[in-house]
Amino acid sequence: MTHPSVVGIDLGTTFSLAAYVENGRPVVVRDVKGVALIPSAISFHDDGTVLVGTAARDRALSDPEHTIFSVKRLMGRTLKDLERELKLIPHQIVEREMEGGRKVLRVDIAGHEHTPEELSALILAEVRKRAGNPTKAVITVPAYFDDSQRQATRDAGRIAGLDVLRIVNEPTAAALAYGLDRRGSGTIVVYDLGGGTFDCSILSLSEGVFKVLSTKGDTFLGGDDFDRAIMGVVVKEMGVDLDGAARDPELLQHLRDAAERCKIALSSAESADLVVDLSKSLRERPALLPRYQRTFTRTEFEALIGPYIDRSIDQCRSALRDAGLTIAGVDEVVLVGGSTRIPYVRQRVTEFFKKTPHTDLNPDEVVALGAAVQADILTSGRRDLLLLDVVPLSLGLETLGGVVDKVIHRNTTVPCRATTRYTTAADNQTAILINIYQGERELTRDCRFLGTFKLSGIPPMPAQFAQVDVTFLVDQNGLLTVSATEHRSGAQARVTVQPAHGLTGDEVEALVAESIDNARADFTARRLIELRNKAETDLRHTEKALALAGDRLEARQKEAIAAATVELRSATAGTDLPTLQRAIDVFSEVTNPLAHLVMNEVLRKTLGGTAADALGEKM
Ligand code: ADP
Ligand code: MG
Repeated sequence: MTHPSVVGIDLGTTFSLAAYVENGRPVVVRDVKGVALIPSAISFHDDGTVLVGTAARDRALSDPEHTIFSVKRLMGRTLKDLERELKLIPHQIVEREMEGGRKVLRVDIAGHEHTPEELSALILAEVRKRAGNPTKAVITVPAYFDDSQRQATRDAGRIAGLDVLRIVNEPTAAALAYGLDRRGSGTIVVYDLGGGTFDCSILSLSEGVFKVLSTKGDTFLGGDDFDRAIMGVVVKEMGVDLDGAARDPELLQHLRDAAERCKIALSSAESADLVVDLSKSLRERPALLPRYQRTFTRTEFEALIGPYIDRSIDQCRSALRDAGLTIAGVDEVVLVGGSTRIPYVRQRVTEFFKKTPHTDLNPDEVVALGAAVQADILTSGRRDLLLLDVVPLSLGLETLGGVVDKVIHRNTTVPCRATTRYTTAADNQTAILINIYQGERELTRDCRFLGTFKLSGIPPMPAQFAQVDVTFLVDQNGLLTVSATEHRSGAQARVTVQPAHGLTGDEVEALVAESIDNARADFTARRLIELRNKAETDLRHTEKALALAGDRLEARQKEAIAAATVELRSATAGTDLPTLQRAIDVFSEVTNPLAHLVMNEVLRKTLGGTAADALGEKM
């Protein structure tokens, strides 16, 4: 085999692999036996050796405590994010606080702590080794991966000694592998059912340019569920007590392997036998049958997995809705992920989209093939293709009273840049703290905090005078940089957001769903905060104005202002929007003459008397 210097890598939850372009065609990297898929498993020996891939997976059977799977689920997350994942990963996961309050996740495997980035790097290093040690790579991630998850993936690549040219979305890579860019334009659905996760992404292609229109998924739906469904039947029939089995990882692993083998066999046969042979280890498990055997038919299997496939189709429906499309608007369907080899899955997808999906390429290799194509485009200087993806969740910053002002909206194509102008809230304010948030809701408390930075060096000025432009930039890899410039002084500050946490697809779902459910409540809360802020500002300015020019008001005007002030204060303390709005309107009306007086006062001072006095006479 040739030794490519640049590869595309599919760093999967269950399997990883590499591909490269040879003579203009992408090919996957295979070992001497012709196997391309490397199980994303790692096992640590007490003597310090580390096994990755098949060897590690085989060892899991006899030594589950030293073996870890599904590291991808931990990438870019905090402990708080991982409630559901923790049940899947039989290792202690701790969070260490680093300087600056940044949190780092660590997995304790037999007394040694490893970060998810390091663990993924071990997998990447194995993939790299098999490809003949290339130095550059494009690595794929699910379209819903957020900033910190992408960053963690990039870091893992770096730890594995790779120059990561680009982080590319898996569905985009799949479409590239099928050469769908040559269609010129159209709408492509990518249905990706892997080992532990499901994604449906809708891509649009126009003039050879890809764009992710929407992406929906379930990070707890995949082939593992089908294995567990089969296991459920077996466990019941064998009379295994599941609570007891939970303390018997070896037995569980054994059952899981048998179930997976049976499932895979059912993809090419109408029925398959499942055999569990415990005769060798029976002494420790006296309550169990030594040997269990049973035949599963396809019909039986399809009934078991039907509810999971229903769920995936529901996600497709909602991805279409998000993209503003109907089934009739879909031109191509691409199947990705090992679980789409299941005939029933193909049948259901075909029925739903009323279209025969692309299945010519191996569904578990297609993402790596596309990544190789992308890597080739990047290194060969071919610029006929530009890949575009989207920001999965809105990005914004905190303004007065805990309101999030969205700067970049969800599903905006990357790379993208947006600038909003802000000003200072207080007189002589010389610094602004910029807090960055991610999410669909209106208030900071319902969004995810991404990072913060301070713009200082603003010269003392009256409130509202400073002109601060805050720019959000999301690059091709989906990484966010926020910068701020104050125009009058030229003061500048910037931060590349490197949040120490991520979101699960479920959470993204939940955030979006929540934001729809709560849109009305959010709107009211936001409006209330805005009106209160306005009232506070009006009251403060009026107080200042009264000190400056109050003595020139008529007694009647002064009384009206005093009364309106009391009204406004009490309305601000309440939560009734119309009352507050009315109080603000009244206040503004009665303070109008005062505003004019102040204006004249200022003019008189600056212009030197006469002209302003003349203006004053007109009032
Ligand atoms: P990842 O989640 O890492 O992207 P893959 O796309 O490689 O993983 O999918 C792995 C899943 O595909 C596993 O659950 C595996 O059991 C399943 N799988 C692989 N081949 C078959 C097959 N022939 N029939 C059914 N399931 C399969
Ligand atoms: Mg995959």
